[in-house]
Amino acid sequence: MKKKLDMLEELQEVDQRIDTLKAAQDGLKAELSGINQGVDAAREEIAILEAGLAQCESEKGELEATHAAELENIVRSETNMKEIKTNKEFQAVGREITAARKQVSDIEEQLLQKISRIEEISGELAAKKSQCDELAENSAQRVVAKQAEIDKIQSDIDADVERRESVTKGLPAGLVKKFAILREQRRGHALAIARDGYCMGCNMQLPPQLYNNLYKYEELLACPHCQRILILKLQ
Ligand SMILES: [Zn+2]
Repeated sequence: MKKKLDMLEELQEVDQRIDTLKAAQDGLKAELSGINQGVDAAREEIAILEAGLAQCESEKGELEATHAAELENIVRSETNMKEIKTNKEFQAVGREITAARKQVSDIEEQLLQKISRIEEISGELAAKKSQCDELAENSAQRVVAKQAEIDKIQSDIDADVERRESVTKGLPAGLVKKFAILREQRRGHALAIARDGYCMGCNMQLPPQLYNNLYKYEELLACPHCQRILILKLQ
């Protein structure tokens, strides 16, 4: 019976170690996904800037086409002027040319604005790209380091799981099951130390007869208050 209790105690230790390792591993996994998200967000920003730049380039192209067409209109009107006979027609074409020149100058103004916007976005884009490259490189190193830590913990978990299996093999299946259920119900502690007549799991006094029986190691005894399996420790 004493041996069974020792094994249960080891089982509890192994289970707690596995829980701690898994929690540490989950933390590292969360950090890992945080690192990857940082790079993804930077790439997203670059994609938005690139889309904005492409939009500006295409608007600039349209303005240039309109600009060229207006210039052609002016040349055509000026050519036509030479063949005009009446004063009235002459004035009409003159007004057309004036309007077209005004249009050309407006377009040129818009083109200048577009070009300066393109330069602005290009500069921003270049800066973001270099930041992102740096971040990606730095992140790649951190990802490798985090992954190595995660793998190391996994090998510790695997070793503990193996140890757990060998311990449970030496115990009756019913007891292992009872232990697992108790552990779940009692926040990870299926066992409690009994000392000086008290259960250290729930800090309640144990019935004296039960406490005396613990010395005999004849059967597994549970605390009547918290139901944990009791392990006698004199100090
Ligand atoms: Zn108790």
